[in-house]
Amino acid sequence: MQIDLGGKRALVAGVADDGGFGFAIARTLAQCGAQVSVATWPPALNIFETLWKRGKFDASRRLPDGSLFDLESVFPLDAAYDTLEQAPLNVRNNRRYAERGDFTIQGLSESWRRKFGAASLDIVVHCLANGPEVLRPLMDTSRAGYLAAISTSAYSNVSLVSHLAPLMRGTGSFLSLTYLAGERVVPGYGGGMSSAKAALECDTRYLAFEAGRRYGVRVNALSAGPYASRAASVSGMIHEVLSYYEANAPLPNRLDATEVARAAVFLCSPWASAITGTTLHVDNGLHAMAKALGPNDLNWLGLGQPIAETA
Ligand code: NAD
Repeated sequence: MQIDLGGKRALVAGVADDGGFGFAIARTLAQCGAQVSVATWPPALNIFETLWKRGKFDASRRLPDGSLFDLESVFPLDAAYDTLEQAPLNVRNNRRYAERGDFTIQGLSESWRRKFGAASLDIVVHCLANGPEVLRPLMDTSRAGYLAAISTSAYSNVSLVSHLAPLMRGTGSFLSLTYLAGERVVPGYGGGMSSAKAALECDTRYLAFEAGRRYGVRVNALSAGPYASRAASVSGMIHEVLSYYEANAPLPNRLDATEVARAAVFLCSPWASAITGTTLHVDNGLHAMAKALGPNDLNWLGLGQPIAETA
């Protein structure tokens, strides 16, 4: 039995290259038969489209049957704005924005309705984050930086649900991507990004209730383990975090984006029809641990054999 998304239409917001979770989720949705569109940040849109046309993503687009998955549409989206009036003039007049029409969340929902009609959407994945002061400790974060992180990385999900749920048909599904730093301290995840992830997870529960009752749709979050995407590489600490996970997680493996994508697609699929308001950890189990492993812990507990030898 396979997850069959034939006849479903999906939107992944936050895809600008083939190196992050968004691309892997888009590919896996397509692999399961969904028609997939993406929404891309205007400053990254030209280069994304150019690289796509030049075939630079072809290796990543390849599906197990050998075909290349295609996008039904690419929408411009700056998730920091709900309406054009909210965007400052210097943004609206910026060439990379001006040439794209309405790049706001309201603009996205109107463009979607014009292109595909009402009752035309089944799956929305919020796969974007931005914190301008992410490299600063929370204690040293400015009010503006903190609010920008929450606005783009958490409120955007509220706004996507409120603007796109009316376009959903049947029992649609929303999913956002979060990180353990919203629940526990991950030194270096600063600038209010930890607060944004905590808000995203709390909002998941409230949105599940409200949008479930009003529209009959589901709202979930997926807490992914670390992955060296473009966004995660900004801090320069990603390799240290990856090594920590490999050394201390119950499953001492490096997380693959496809593993996150498969869990994401399951949560968005009819197979998860009774799952809503939840945050699912897909992190090789690290969230379950409360202590880093000491040098002798595995031997002392009799857990030290390499996995290959015990299998
Ligand atoms: P990524 O760089 O592939 O994705 C981030 C995307 O956000 C980019 O496409 C970027 O253009 C977009 N973006 C930034 N500001 C935007 C804005 N104002 N409007 C619209 N789009 C905007 O990186 P990723 O790591 O795959 O991140 C995807 C999601 O996964 C994020 O929510 C991230 O916090 C989450 N996540 C990542 C990790 C990790 O270690 N990589 C771990 C857990 C959760």
